[in-house]
Amino acid sequence: MKLPTIDQTYFVDFLTRLLNTPSPTGFTENAISLVEAELSHFPEVQLSRTRKGALLALIEGEDPSQMHALTAHVDTLGAMVKEIKASGRLKLTKIGGYAWNTVEGEGCWVHTFAGEKVRGSILLAKSSSHVHGSAVAEDKRDDNAMEVRLDARTITADETRALGIGVGDFVSFDPRVELTNGFVRSRHLDDKACAANLVSAIHSLHQAGLKPKVTTLFHFSNYEEVGHGASAGIPAEASELISVDMAALGDGQNSDEFHASLCVKDSGGPYHHGLSSRMRTVAEKYSIPYKVDIYPQYGSDGEAFWRAGGDTAVALIGPGVDASHNYERTHMEALLATTQWVLAYLLD
Ligand SMILES: [Zn+2]
Repeated sequence: MKLPTIDQTYFVDFLTRLLNTPSPTGFTENAISLVEAELSHFPEVQLSRTRKGALLALIEGEDPSQMHALTAHVDTLGAMVKEIKASGRLKLTKIGGYAWNTVEGEGCWVHTFAGEKVRGSILLAKSSSHVHGSAVAEDKRDDNAMEVRLDARTITADETRALGIGVGDFVSFDPRVELTNGFVRSRHLDDKACAANLVSAIHSLHQAGLKPKVTTLFHFSNYEEVGHGASAGIPAEASELISVDMAALGDGQNSDEFHASLCVKDSGGPYHHGLSSRMRTVAEKYSIPYKVDIYPQYGSDGEAFWRAGGDTAVALIGPGVDASHNYERTHMEALLATTQWVLAYLLD
């Protein structure tokens, strides 16, 4: 059997819109709404939300007596205002696991309680070479060393408060989406790339007038980066869960930006051997370019589900993403391979 066609223009358009929708963990409403609005174009998709705010998209299969599930997350790394400094600048606390140097110099938005956005930059507090000399290179980047410089007239804490900014406001980083020669670079390809893989797979099925083999639940998670996204929301009747999340590249890794990867082991130990093996068989059958890999410092929503007591086979696939939790990059080949793999899993 041939897999249905993937509309690349549709994929890139949706991915770009999702990447440009700020959604640090805890502040994901706009991203979840964007996915929901997109999937509402397909009448065969039954949409609902969990109380925790994840989006569920259910499609009845040829065999409705069985259910499989897939999950991808729309929440991203980000920060929150921890303190307003006497200088009027902001001290942040991180949301998710990353190093401060990966966002140093980045543009950001502060999302205020009133729903306004205030523009700023994330900088080392001792940022000027002409004033601080070697400290600019040598200062350890930690919560105390970093600050937000606001693009607003403020030099006191009161002036910053008058802008509507307060402790607890979410801060999102500029994604800086760029497409060149098939490469897609942006922050937060983890895991918006894979949320787009699921949406484009649903789009392809719809265009081809096909149903998945069994009833399938697509779970769009909103708390993955802090470790408990899919710990709720996957129904007990789902007999398999495919976590779709980026593959980690770097020294010693088998993955690259031109293949999808199957992760057989990460920090949480091995994934389900039977389901992982079936994913490999399916990839071989449809000539999907894939690699098998192990991610040394990584956890997924599949494991969040397992740790919460989920009794279902879990496997992990996703496109190779360079410089993960940094200024990330992948290639259309890896993205298309991942959507193909999802389609092959749904239909085979
Ligand atoms: Zn992820």
